[in-house]
Amino acid sequence: MKNKEYQLVIVGYGGMGSYHAKQLLKENKNINVVGTYDVMEERKAASITDGYKAYESLTAVLADDDVDFVLIATPNDVHKEIAIAALNAKKHVICEKPVTIYSEELVEIMQAAKLNDRKFIVHQNRRWDEDFLTIRKIYDEQIIGEVFHIESRVQGANGIPGDWRHLKEFGGGMLLDWGVHLLDQLLFMVDSKITSVYAQLSYVLGDEVDDGFQAFITFENGTTSLVEVGTTNFVQLPRWYTKGTQGTAVIHDWDINGKIVTQNLGENIEAPKPIKAGQGLTKTMAPPSEKAVSTLELPKVEKTMESFYDNVVSVVEGKAEPIVKNDEVLRVLQLIETIFKAAELNEVIKDFDKTRSHV
Ligand code: NAD
Repeated sequence: MKNKEYQLVIVGYGGMGSYHAKQLLKENKNINVVGTYDVMEERKAASITDGYKAYESLTAVLADDDVDFVLIATPNDVHKEIAIAALNAKKHVICEKPVTIYSEELVEIMQAAKLNDRKFIVHQNRRWDEDFLTIRKIYDEQIIGEVFHIESRVQGANGIPGDWRHLKEFGGGMLLDWGVHLLDQLLFMVDSKITSVYAQLSYVLGDEVDDGFQAFITFENGTTSLVEVGTTNFVQLPRWYTKGTQGTAVIHDWDINGKIVTQNLGENIEAPKPIKAGQGLTKTMAPPSEKAVSTLELPKVEKTMESFYDNVVSVVEGKAEPIVKNDEVLRVLQLIETIFKAAELNEVIKDFDKTRSHV
């Protein structure tokens, strides 16, 4: 099966490796999955059942001149060594998130890509999520005025999944797992320098890695944000909650249930009536009068970016810049390191962008 222009081998044919093969790469007209390499015999057998050649070793993959791309979908601890070996073998490399555990490892990969004149692109796929694109549209188009506060959360009740995600040496924990997505989205949306970082990590499940976290990030343009991941939440808070100078937007879930409520201005608007609240009376917390606010539907997002794999092909052919740029991925990884540090020291860390190292 070699009718497409580029041949790709998946290294690590587990949950995500097979999702790329069966979903994401099926939708791409230029890239053909020719085979896989996995250390587990069981996954080699699954590859053959699924119709893909099972390579016996990484060396065999890299020695195959027909292979143009290597996709890395192994646990996080081996991303670097596989990426550098593949780049040195003159393959283009696509790598699952988190790209590496430590930012210095990514710097080494970026140097290897440059040296070998090959592309290295990280699968930060949640830049394409509809819930995120909806919030980004609200942010960019100032649909609730100027957005000054963003809360981005994912919360589950199933603990840390699988095996290696529980262990530090494999790059486990929720900050590296889900945190990398939420932070990548935030930094892709807010075009401003980070001025302060504070965080708390959660270890309630007793693992050596974090089972969740809260990170408070402030930007130079005045935007504040709370990024939160939880795995012990039997009742979930909304996926997104954002406040702007003229309203509030909420998105509850990945099915984009939610709403926008904006403030109406004018002289004929009644003041809110005090309500009985618990054992007291309040006007501050009373609902606004009917005419004081409008409820709007969330905006629909149009496709404005190439899909991830279409962009990979355009980049390799010199027709486009990568949507996921390596220096952006590096910034996110450095932010994760700063979040770990802020939590450990229980301190606010200032001037992240002024002090971080660039490549
Ligand atoms: P998994 O445990 O289901 O699969 C990993 C596979 O890699 C296993 O089959 C394992 O045998 C194999 N493996 C381990 N070491 C190897 C090596 N040295 N060489 C070859 N194969 C090796 O894990 P997963 O959930 O598929 O996660 C894999 C990667 O994908 C991780 O980096 C994870 O963070 C990422 N991921 C990304 C998303 C996303 O939405 N982008 C979602 C899930 C997972």
